[in-house]
Amino acid sequence: MVYDVIVLGGGPAGITAAIYGKRAGLNILVLDESPKSGGQILTTYEVDNYPGLPKIGGMELGDKLREHADQLGAEFAVGRVSSIEKQDDTFLLKTRKVTYEAKTVIIATGAGHRSLGAPGEAEHMGMGVSYCATCDGAFYKDKVTAVVGGGNVALEDALFLARTSKQVYLIHRRDEFRGDKVLVDQVKATDNITLVLDSVVESIEGQMKVDSLSIKNVKTEEVSKLEVDGVFIAVGITPNTDKMQGLPEMDAAGYILAGEDAQTSIPGVFAAGDVRTKQLRQVITSASDGANAIFSVQRYLNSQKLHKN
Ligand SMILES: Cc1cc2nc3c(=O)[nH]c(=O)nc-3n(C[C@H](O)[C@H](O)[C@H](O)COP(=O)(O)OP(=O)(O)OC[C@H]3O[C@@H](n4cnc5c(N)ncnc54)[C@H](O)[C@@H]3O)c2cc1C
Repeated sequence: MVYDVIVLGGGPAGITAAIYGKRAGLNILVLDESPKSGGQILTTYEVDNYPGLPKIGGMELGDKLREHADQLGAEFAVGRVSSIEKQDDTFLLKTRKVTYEAKTVIIATGAGHRSLGAPGEAEHMGMGVSYCATCDGAFYKDKVTAVVGGGNVALEDALFLARTSKQVYLIHRRDEFRGDKVLVDQVKATDNITLVLDSVVESIEGQMKVDSLSIKNVKTEEVSKLEVDGVFIAVGITPNTDKMQGLPEMDAAGYILAGEDAQTSIPGVFAAGDVRTKQLRQVITSASDGANAIFSVQRYLNSQKLHKN
């Protein structure tokens, strides 16, 4: 069987592509290494910024996305794709057990947030530990928060949180930030942001939810306690492109080079969602990418005369 399009990844980008693809009459398959659709949002307690669905649970949103695609008859299969290979007019996609064939491919394998690896981090995820200030910052209105990291994302997160949090601590292991000077200056000029430099988080503590951090000064070795209601970890995101062969061109960080039209350096291969180079990685921007990718797939199929409308 040769599919019109195979989508790698069943997160918001991949499922939106499936919805738009089925409605466009395409023969489409979504491949995900996980049997549970939804991608990263499955790991969050609540999503409160997707229009029309306020305060929806991450798991519930994942289920709703999948139900929508199921209602339209989209086909799903479980498998981790390890390579994309061009063969004449089609692409071969290899998983451990099966090789799939398609006229076009949408890569929507998403990204993962780096963790600190500190004791208490995993246990408190969604209970005071967050990797996304844009997503969860509003839950900490008038509360005390901390941001960990020294790059632009950490600086932007601190500024974002300072608008609503009572107090923000910005914890960085060095005495200088890697981020842009303009952001560093803004952070330093913000009254309710306190810099905690040369310091690392030793552990994240609290009974049901986070109530404090143990901080070690790396120069003096002194350990102190910082009382916080939430901690935002901004030590980097990695795109899920590291274990796949045959990918299009990527930037230095491993994101696939593609614009809003999802076109990559390989004709017939498209990239959507968090895995591509873009400004804001969110459910809504991923869903938008999935829709755009299908539009580009249709154009490509028509231009190659690979699909009859
Ligand atoms: C804790 C947390 C909270 C968040 N909260 C919000 C929020 O409140 N609001 C918001 O808008 N955004 C939020 N986000 C961001 C949002 O979840 C992402 O922007 C969005 O899920 C990206 O969608 P995606 O489809 O591009 O990728 P993903 O959701 O990452 O999905 C990618 C899918 O690809 C699969 N995959 C990966 N590699 C392979 C492979 N080789 N073969 C087959 N399948 C593969 C994965 O299993 C996964 O299902 C949050 C993220 C996190 C981590």
